Amino acid sequence: MELRLYDTLSREKRTFVPLDAKNVRMYVCGPTVYDFAHIGNARPVIVFDVLFRLLRHLYGEAHVKYVRNITDVDDKINDRAARDFPGLPLNEAIRKVTEETGRQFHADVDALGALRPSVEPRATEHIGEMREIIERLVRGGFAYVAEDHVLFSPQAMNAANAGLPRYGALSKRSLDEMIAGARVDVAPYKKDSTDFVLWKPSKPGEPSWASPSGIKVEGRPGWHIECSAMAWKHLGEQFDIHGGGIDLVFPHHENEVAQTCCAFHQQRMANYWMHNGFLQVESEKMSKSLGNFITIHELLRDWPGEVLRLNMLKTHYTSPIDWTMKSLEESARTLDDWYRIAADVAPSKPAVSVLEALLDDLNTPQAIAALHGLRGSDVPALAGSLRLLGFLSESAAQWEGRKQQASGIDAKQVESLIAERTAARARKDFKESDRIRDQLAAMGIAIKDSKDGTTWEVAR
Ligand code: AMP
Ligand code: ZN
Repeated sequence: MELRLYDTLSREKRTFVPLDAKNVRMYVCGPTVYDFAHIGNARPVIVFDVLFRLLRHLYGEAHVKYVRNITDVDDKINDRAARDFPGLPLNEAIRKVTEETGRQFHADVDALGALRPSVEPRATEHIGEMREIIERLVRGGFAYVAEDHVLFSPQAMNAANAGLPRYGALSKRSLDEMIAGARVDVAPYKKDSTDFVLWKPSKPGEPSWASPSGIKVEGRPGWHIECSAMAWKHLGEQFDIHGGGIDLVFPHHENEVAQTCCAFHQQRMANYWMHNGFLQVESEKMSKSLGNFITIHELLRDWPGEVLRLNMLKTHYTSPIDWTMKSLEESARTLDDWYRIAADVAPSKPAVSVLEALLDDLNTPQAIAALHGLRGSDVPALAGSLRLLGFLSESAAQWEGRKQQASGIDAKQVESLIAERTAARARKDFKESDRIRDQLAAMGIAIKDSKDGTTWEVAR
């Protein structure tokens, strides 16, 4: 059985052959940590987690290295820090924002059943590598210093042409057309409209680091160079798979390829480029202004993470996904059924039908159809296959208990029990009032008596 993956660069499904089967290497662009992650951000997390699990199954856990970065230097972070912590020095505020958002991101993706990547590098811990790549690019004639910025020149790259990919190859864009279509208000320090920033000076108070040689003032990196640096540090000059959402193909990934290939004089950065399609909500683009912007955090209040995970995997990762309440309800019912019949069964090896579907470019809808087929024929294989896909992290009883809790406490019933208890206390029937208190506690309700009466809450 061989793994076939759709590669955005060659626009075809190709058999996956790792550079080194003892060290299979994958890089996925991670979040910029300034706010709660939305459900669209969960898509690459879940999709590449399934791929990570499949690669570990095929090559062995010790032989797969998955790197997903954390972007902790960005204008959006600075803006959020200044807004949320106006009294603090900016750098301190930024640390608060990135630490808190990073913690929240971990809580979310853990709940989605995603394994932690092998390494989660932070951009701010790789400034030295960024500087080194930038200096190589300047030395090689691919980048230049202007007004304390360093700019990368795609035109210099395409003119050099010596064993390098063509700028625009990944996103299938022609540099000439990009030049023709350029906006008129190009920054004055750019020689050409298509040049992009590798390094820029920091404004007073902003995070800043020693700049690459040739620049005296301190500065900070552009976004694209961060991923080139972290991938290089943790995976080497070339590696197997690079992933992210389809929106990252241009300019982010095109620029990563340009930086890495020109710095290390090579034809390729990654051998397979994989991109997940976009997620929309109830047939509309998700946006704050439309009011349909949903965070993972909010969804987790109403649904177990595995329901969100299954709902995501019902659509093939390259297709757009329409995230609907109806589909979520259906996913929840499916998982209730699988938990009931398979969660407490000793799992056997994953079924061939499920594996074959996954090996065909992560065809998760087909894998799910195969799971439905196993339900009536081979429950141990159903259990083993579900575990491979990152499901059944709880026992059947835990799942059921959580469901009852989430399905809601009947507030009217609680109020009337409290009224009965108040009446029992008034007539000094403490046996009965204690019995009702215990009954409420068993329902997960904590009560508090004060001179103003009795209040209650769902106990945690
Ligand atoms: P960002 O923090 O916006 O850079 O996004 C983090 C990851 O989520 C990237 O891989 C994006 O491509 C991906 N992403 C963002 N929005 C969506 C969406 N609506 N659907 C699918 N993927 C998305
Ligand atoms: Zn990236």
